[in-house]
Amino acid sequence: MVTNNPIGAPLDTSITGVKRPFLISGPCSAESEQQVLDTARALQHTGIHLFRAGVWKPRTRPNAFEGIGEPALQWLTAARRETGIPVATEVANTQHVEACLKAGIDVLWIGARTTVSPFAVQEIATALQGTNVPVFVKNPMHADLPLWIGAIERVRKATDAPVWAIHRGFSRYGQQEYRNAPMWEIAIALQMAMPDLNIICDPSHIAGKRELLERVAQKAMDLGMHGLMMESHCQPEAAMSDSDQQVTPAGFEALIQGLTIRDAHTGPSDPANLEALRLQMDSIDEQVIELLQTRMNLAREIGQYKKNHGMTILQMQRWKEVFKTRGAWAQAAGLGPEFIETYLEQVHKESIRVQNEEMSQKKYGK
Ligand code: PEP
Ligand code: MN
Repeated sequence: MVTNNPIGAPLDTSITGVKRPFLISGPCSAESEQQVLDTARALQHTGIHLFRAGVWKPRTRPNAFEGIGEPALQWLTAARRETGIPVATEVANTQHVEACLKAGIDVLWIGARTTVSPFAVQEIATALQGTNVPVFVKNPMHADLPLWIGAIERVRKATDAPVWAIHRGFSRYGQQEYRNAPMWEIAIALQMAMPDLNIICDPSHIAGKRELLERVAQKAMDLGMHGLMMESHCQPEAAMSDSDQQVTPAGFEALIQGLTIRDAHTGPSDPANLEALRLQMDSIDEQVIELLQTRMNLAREIGQYKKNHGMTILQMQRWKEVFKTRGAWAQAAGLGPEFIETYLEQVHKESIRVQNEEMSQKKYGK
């Protein structure tokens, strides 16, 4: 059975025969047998197709909770026995794959920190040779589409089992609204490059906080992505990893029920490409506006500095320099001189406006 989506790929239903959206939920980490079983039981009637829990946790800093390891695989299979829902966990090396195969884990995923390393991905692919366990490949931490494609290809070369992708956003320096920038255009470009690939969105790791999950999940559905992976925990605030982004099983269910899932649609002769290109453009515009906002926030800080140091807002020498350097960058990028001049004039105007606002706010003690 296949269903179309706006980006163009049919849904490969070979795993469970379900229709879009394919739903995955469960805790970030398996913490105890009780926690795994309680969460699985609470999710049993929410309509999920796959239960997830991380057993080996790749953590940024040492001394963080690094997962229970192999013994927790038995908790996953116990949860499957009780609920009938297939189970998935993350693997990062041969030993993980072998332990999962031995325990009979249904689906494996490769995490974002592993996808960045072709050596690690190849090691996993080699360990999977000749098996029939489906594998989901998360995007690499950074925005590198060929690296993501390469990882999928490595696994596909090793096994005939379904290989899907998971879009979990891309790491960026500095504090941003999202924990990981969605950069939807990369997921769309992946779909265009591999039209038969199923792509699941992971709003939890994109959003990083519960309040943003719904917005990200709806966007993923509007883009026609094939499913959602969302972390859930019976007591999210007590979770040993990723506590800010986990929801309760009931919260997960409510969120899913609140989504609008639009039907498949077909368009003119070459709809997928035109639509996919426009969707990428939308995502780029969103990021341009976010960058402009970051730029104006810096202008505010500069406004404060100038105020504190008795400087004037307009520093002609600085702006001459800005026009000169940006003009040269734009020319090298093939942008028209008139366009960049108008753009810079407008940016300058807005920058002066926000600096002015900053100074007058201070002046009147607001
Ligand atoms: C996870 O799914 O819990 C995880 C560690 O994800 P990512 O690899 O996307 O950071
Ligand atoms: Mn997590």
